[in-house]
This record gives sequence, structure tokens and C-alpha cells, in this order.
Amino acid sequence: MEVYIDYQSAKPVDPRVIEEMTPYFYYKFGNPSSLHETGDEATAILENCRQTIASFINAKKEEIIFTSGATESNNLAIIGYALRNKGKGNHILISEIEHISIHNIAKYLSKIGFNISKIPVNPYGSVNLKKIKERMTDKTILVSIGYANNEIGTIQQISEIGRLCKENNIAFHSDAVAAEGLVPIDVKKDNIDLLTLSSNDIYGPKGLGILYTRKGIRINPLIIGGGQERGLRSGSENIPGIVGMAKAVEIMQVEMNEEVKRLKVYRDRLIDNILGNIPKSHLNGHPTNRLSNNAHFRFEGIEGESLLLSLKDKGISVSTGSACTSKTLEPSHTLIALGLLHEEAHGSLELTSGRFTKKEDIDLVLEVLPQVVERLRKLSPLYK
Ligand code: PMP
Repeated sequence: MEVYIDYQSAKPVDPRVIEEMTPYFYYKFGNPSSLHETGDEATAILENCRQTIASFINAKKEEIIFTSGATESNNLAIIGYALRNKGKGNHILISEIEHISIHNIAKYLSKIGFNISKIPVNPYGSVNLKKIKERMTDKTILVSIGYANNEIGTIQQISEIGRLCKENNIAFHSDAVAAEGLVPIDVKKDNIDLLTLSSNDIYGPKGLGILYTRKGIRINPLIIGGGQERGLRSGSENIPGIVGMAKAVEIMQVEMNEEVKRLKVYRDRLIDNILGNIPKSHLNGHPTNRLSNNAHFRFEGIEGESLLLSLKDKGISVSTGSACTSKTLEPSHTLIALGLLHEEAHGSLELTSGRFTKKEDIDLVLEVLPQVVERLRKLSPLYK
């Protein structure tokens, strides 16, 4: 049986979620837009789920839009806001370490007349408030900064960034996919106007996400059709998926604190043991202000890819960074933004635990990894 320490790339769906979803594929199959009883039942369940998910982030039910996932939510937030508000200005701020979906949205917007500025980060991956402030102009309409980084796990000062945006009358979007279920999110306290969440990142089904849109924030729809989701996201709602995400939220509301405590123990064991026992190993990301499931290292003189493949041979699944960019040969833009050299970025390894990680899984990684690193270093012309 494979030992899976790559929860940031994908998570299994919690069996309790699958059980809750199952009737909605067959017995409770209605479309909320239908006017008969089956349709009414679907509307009731849709609105209940919307309420559950809204309460998870301290939002109102009407502020939740269901989408097909985080990529779509990021598109709707940033492109939807930019198109709707272009009369106020054409300048948008993102950070250097945003998820690839945000970077590519920014690239698209820059081709159609928007100016994008990228805020640098410090060597721990923290975005500096002063740098955001310096780059704000009277043309800035939107700031988009991820709640926490999906690769190195650094958590940002979200409520302070939100406050800065509010004081300057600039909308604030945050992609909270990496942080959800690990950090309590409160859109009011955090001063967030637009927030992206995905279902799979809290052990719900894939292909489902939400965009929180604070009341009063105006966006253009990107998908036009029958007018579902207040006209902001047309298309029949994915009721089984929505039921699954709401159940995943209910489980998180009860279990998150305990889960985070358990994950922190695993994370700290990994960090302490690896830095203590493997020479010339380094931690990427913030030493303390990091996600409770994230341990991200670089090892001098070896390639992350060969490390990954050697661990794969031993039945351990890990990652060298974001699954969304793993097919490119380019080093991670996040690691380069930290100031790492290409060879340092290529020598990195991401270990992310989750709900079903066991103590024995961590023990196995700690037993195998030092041997693998030593063997690869012996073969490496790069290692002195
Ligand atoms: N944002 C972040 C931070 C992510 O890690 C991911 C990938 N899980 C996405 C957005 C895109 O999510 P999806 O592929 O589900 O649309």
C-alpha cells in the first residue's frame, strides 16, 4: 500500500461525504430550476448547503456562488471584477507567489488592457504590506493575494492586507484553497471582498468550488446561460457535489481543531528530524507562520525529481511542488520568488500530510529519506 504524503495535490473524498452524496445521484436527482416537487426539494437542499458553506467563513448565504472549482472561482473573481469595474481603473496587484491560475489570469488581463503589478515576497514567502501600499495607485481596483501558499505553506497577514485595501477603497480577493480546513477563515474579520474555496481541499468531491462575493461587490459573469446563481454563474447546479462540499464543511467544523493539532505534530517531526539528520538540508517557507500540514525542504546537490522517483520506488508519494505545474521543466516560480537559485529550486521536495496520514507513514519517510538522499548525493556530480 502506497504511503501518500502529497495532500496538497489532491485529497481523498471522506467516506462520510460519499455517503451523504450518494442519494443525490438517483433518488434525489432534481433540478432546482424545475417548478415541481422534485425541483422544490432540490432548491431546498441547494439553499441549505449554501447556508452551511456560508457559515464556515462567516458569510451570508446570498454571498456564495457555486462554481466548478478554484480555477473558475479565481477567473470569476478577477476577470469578473476587472471587466465590471474597468471604469474605475485598470490596475491590479497580485503577488509573485500566486497560484499558476492567478498568474495566467493576470497574463490574459494584461493582453486586454489591464496593468498588472506583482508584489515581491521576502525569503520566507511573506508578502510585505509596505510593498503593497507602495504599488497602489489611483488606478488600482483589485488586489489578489493567496491566504496561504500552496507550495511552501507560508500564511499571509490576510486581515492586515484586507484592511489596507479597505482603507484605500480597493477590492481584495484571496484564493484560500491551500488554507481552508487548516486556518479559520472569517471573511468579515479578514476584510475580504472575494474569496475562492474548493471542495476537494476539505475532503469533498473534485469539480466543485465557491466564490464568496461580499454584498455590494459587483462582478460580471463569465458563463452566460439560464441565469442560475443570481445570473453570475449559469448552468444547472451540481447538486451531488454541493451536498458533498456542505458535508465536508460540517465535518471540518467539528474536527478541524483536533485535525490541525495532529497535523502539526507530524509536520514538526518531519521538520525537526529532517533538518537534524540530513546534512545540508533546508526548510523552504516560513519557520512558524506556515500551514500545519506543510513541510517543504531543499537538499543541496540533488534533484527533487530524482528524489521523488526514488521515494516512489519505495512506495512513498510526495511532490516537488505544485501538481498544476509539475509537467513543465521550469523551476517553481514560487521558489524563484524566494530568491533561490534554479538548482536550489530544483532540489526541493514538498511533504503535505492530511486527514488519513498515520504516524507510521511519517516514520517510514523519516527512515527512508536520509538513505535516499545519501545515495543520490553519492551519484551526484553537483554535490561537494
Ligand atoms: N488555487 C490553489 C491555491 C490551488 O492549490 C489550486 C489547485 N489545487 C487551484 C487554485 C486550482 O484548483 P482546481 O484545479 O481545483 O480548479
